Amino acid sequence: MDPQSGPPETLRSGGTVHVLGAGPVGLLLTALLQPVEEFSVRLYEKRSEYTRPRMVRLAGYLVADSVDAYRADHFDGENVDAVFEPAELAEGLAFRQSIPADLMALLRRFAQGFVPLNAIERSVSDLIDGRDSHPVTRTAGALTAQDAIAMVEPGDVLIDCTGTNSLLRDRLVVGDGDGDPGANTLNFLFEHALVITFLYSQTYACNEFCKYYKNVENPHYKFIPMVHRVSHDGSVSHVTGIVTITAEEFEAMPKRFDGEWLRDNAPAVAQSMDRFIDKVKQETNGEVIGDLEIIRIPLNLYRARNVTSRQWATASPSDHPFATTPVFLAGDSAIGSPYFQSISLGFECAMFLAGLIAQRGVALEDKLNRYERYIYKQWLRVYMQSKMIKNNKDLFQSLDDPVALLGKLHIY
Ligand SMILES: Cc1cc2nc3c(=O)[nH]c(=O)nc-3n(C[C@H](O)[C@H](O)[C@H](O)COP(=O)(O)OP(=O)(O)OC[C@H]3O[C@@H](n4cnc5c(N)ncnc54)[C@H](O)[C@@H]3O)c2cc1C
Repeated sequence: MDPQSGPPETLRSGGTVHVLGAGPVGLLLTALLQPVEEFSVRLYEKRSEYTRPRMVRLAGYLVADSVDAYRADHFDGENVDAVFEPAELAEGLAFRQSIPADLMALLRRFAQGFVPLNAIERSVSDLIDGRDSHPVTRTAGALTAQDAIAMVEPGDVLIDCTGTNSLLRDRLVVGDGDGDPGANTLNFLFEHALVITFLYSQTYACNEFCKYYKNVENPHYKFIPMVHRVSHDGSVSHVTGIVTITAEEFEAMPKRFDGEWLRDNAPAVAQSMDRFIDKVKQETNGEVIGDLEIIRIPLNLYRARNVTSRQWATASPSDHPFATTPVFLAGDSAIGSPYFQSISLGFECAMFLAGLIAQRGVALEDKLNRYERYIYKQWLRVYMQSKMIKNNKDLFQSLDDPVALLGKLHIY
């Protein structure tokens, strides 16, 4: 390419879209971009198979076919109204309506209830491979940032979907911080938590009253089944709950363990959880099936301050490849949220990005700016929602202690 020619005005026809990472978001983006005539798509993944069995739930707004359906959730709906202009919501809907029917059918199925994460990954992956036209080239193996930078040709696009430890996130800042870990990340640590999952032999559901009364004897380590995370699947309920722990307890625990380890090493947490489960059993005469699966995770809310290579767009093409090759972050590479909304958020952003990339006649600069603005708005939305959940959780911990409760309230 002529080094004097500067950044392209539009994404070039005939180029390759390189999707880095074939987790749920990378796969969805690939499936969305695959039918676009102007590009070929190349998908890179380091894992050889999809093994994550955890049950995840997708938000209903993902398959909404009207603006009203999109903003149906009471709390989220108000946030959506506060952040997005009506024209933006209409545009999002139009992008959604252009999703190929085979993919939309899958999304509708996923949004009906709980799905194992690896089932989402396998289904979308199979859909991509099963399509007759526009085959996607796959490359197996772990990429480095240098690999990614070296492989692009003029007219290509890089989309980083490599998750929380994003490959390119910290490469998107210009200047001294370029490449430094965290240079491009705004992070709030909300809490440390145990995520406890088990199967239960009866139908079981738990609203806010149930969460309170089943924890009445638990002054600490309240077991909170997550909203919408209790699902009944035939005769078995999948229950996932979180228990807040301290940073010190977090450090002293392995990443993953079972009920026996918890009872031996963190008896106060185990007692609290067992009290909760005993009450459920008394009410419904069921049994826990198998063992508990427990992981410890920090619940972070973060965003990439730059989700595109916009900062590099004014650099000289000879100084940096991102001056001519646009980079976009999607999924957990761009935003991470603590209370299990991330896949839906990542899918939502992927739909917008695919629509934007496929649009003809729009200047590259515009595309970069619009994606930045869109992701910032999605960030505001998830920030408000996550803060509300965290605040409610904090209040819940102190419901029986009015002084502590009042100390956490900001009424006016
Ligand atoms: C216990 C738990 C429960 C959860 N439940 C929910 C839920 O109910 N709903 C929800 O929305 N979210 C949930 N989440 C979050 C959700 O799993 C993530 O948000 C989601 O997986 C992010 O998707 P992604 O495609 O952006 O990234 P990832 O799933 O992290 O995928 C990234 C992909 O990139 C690949 N990759 C990474 N680096 C490289 C490299 N250098 N070279 C090649 N390939 C690479 C990885 O192998 C991986 O396949 C949960 C998370 C946890 C921990």
